[in-house]
Amino acid sequence: MMTSVFRNGRIFVPTSPSTKGDNEFAECMIITNDRITYVGSLDDAQIPADANVVDLDNRLVIPGFIDAHAHILLYGHSLLQKVDLTKCRYLEEIRATIKAYAVANPSLPNIICQGWLQLSTNGIALASMLDGLDPRPIFIAAFDMHSIWCNSAALEAINAHTAPNPPGGYIHRDENGRASGLLDESAAVIVAWPYLESFNSKEDNLAALDMAVQSYTAAGYTGVVDMAMDERTWELLKEYRRDKHFPFHIGAHWLVPYTEDQEVNFTFVDRAIELNQEFKEPDFCIVGIKLICDGVIDGCTAALLQPYTGKSDPVEPIWPEPQLREVMQRADSAGLQCAIHAIGDRAVRQVIDVLSQVGTPGRRHRIEHLEMTTSEDAKRLGELGITASVQPVHSDPTLFKAWPSRVGQDRCKRGFAYKEFMDGGAPLAIGTDAPTAPHLPFPNLYNATTRRSALEPESTDTVNAHFGITLAEAATAATTGAAYARFADSWTGSLQQGLSADFVVVDMHWTPEKLLEAKVCQTWYRGKEVYNSTEAARG
Ligand SMILES: [Zn+2]
Repeated sequence: MMTSVFRNGRIFVPTSPSTKGDNEFAECMIITNDRITYVGSLDDAQIPADANVVDLDNRLVIPGFIDAHAHILLYGHSLLQKVDLTKCRYLEEIRATIKAYAVANPSLPNIICQGWLQLSTNGIALASMLDGLDPRPIFIAAFDMHSIWCNSAALEAINAHTAPNPPGGYIHRDENGRASGLLDESAAVIVAWPYLESFNSKEDNLAALDMAVQSYTAAGYTGVVDMAMDERTWELLKEYRRDKHFPFHIGAHWLVPYTEDQEVNFTFVDRAIELNQEFKEPDFCIVGIKLICDGVIDGCTAALLQPYTGKSDPVEPIWPEPQLREVMQRADSAGLQCAIHAIGDRAVRQVIDVLSQVGTPGRRHRIEHLEMTTSEDAKRLGELGITASVQPVHSDPTLFKAWPSRVGQDRCKRGFAYKEFMDGGAPLAIGTDAPTAPHLPFPNLYNATTRRSALEPESTDTVNAHFGITLAEAATAATTGAAYARFADSWTGSLQQGLSADFVVVDMHWTPEKLLEAKVCQTWYRGKEVYNSTEAARG
């Protein structure tokens, strides 16, 4: 038996009955093997003589973070060699950055870039704006990963001129019907990504996954919910788990891409049901399905109740309601959770309507993103027990700059209404949607609480500050709430006697304004230290 006692610090237990009044912290935590065996006052602790005593030196212990919405393999690939355009504010900066990279990397088959903010080119993305830089195909993923901007060589390489628009996707074309440079939503996923993935060997994929694993553990995560699983990625995760083993738990939602052929959609649901039954271990399982019901506001692809500013036609949700209902009912009746991407108020309403008809109470279905919602729908989430799965990092004021031109000032006031979701009684789960945004947990909590920019901390701009939540609420949603959202709250996600010893030791001031300075010192998973910043620094 291995017992460790953590003392002289503060243990985050916001709901623990062992703490009195409004105290969010306990004095002492004891773990034995892989379990938490005691949380409470030091006076009442029974400490075995041979226990390993850890002096926390006034640091905090909080439950291990669980990223409630991530794409772990894609995140790993985002760490591999790519051109980062996040800091480019103008087309000329984008061109200069790509040019320098192309010259420095003459042997790469393609030039792949990421982090393009659509506002930096006023939303315009033509192949001609990239031509002349390099003869190789150039692919630029938008910051939110929902669109890809291609040069002419890239459009040729993926046959974009002759490819039809896939359902839920759009290939922008010129007056002659030829692809002009930009691919939105499923067009990026179906037409462009497979071409780029064909260059990745299995070794590349395993290397990308390994980098993602190290990076998540160092950031303080002990759990991840992977939000668009497919056959290829699942095989890879299985292989990684067999050979190297994950220092965190993974629950995955199986992606059911929309097609007009409902029988094809059903085959994806049935595969998810099959895998849900096959993988029963709570630390590595398929918990449900993922559906994508609209796009994003920046790209004018999110489905809104009113048209975008200056446009007359509203954007329709991707799934027609009858098909959506059947697919969700099929998953629900097999005991699977549905996680539905809905960003615009129209898509959100459609999903809530359907869940009110076919969702079994207690199934913990969830809506992802919820960026623009009406106040009526914000209330319905709680009434129906739908988890609000949000990514505060997407509400960063730097990323919000395109909203006023897309939807007008009035509708901007409805953006990211987290406090309303909570006030209405909805369970809140916080994630990052990495790699569409940085994966780090503390900037995410900073966005959730201060509603200021973690990307430009010197700016005092906020996005709807009155929808901000408290630090205890945000930290709970990023741990306990994320565990609840995938039925893992009975064994992890909070610091309670009997639960898995999954936690982080953090050097920080417990106040929203100081969150960007928080430092993860140790990450513990199942009672084992899986990351230590001192050792990491020593190499
Ligand atoms: Zn996502």
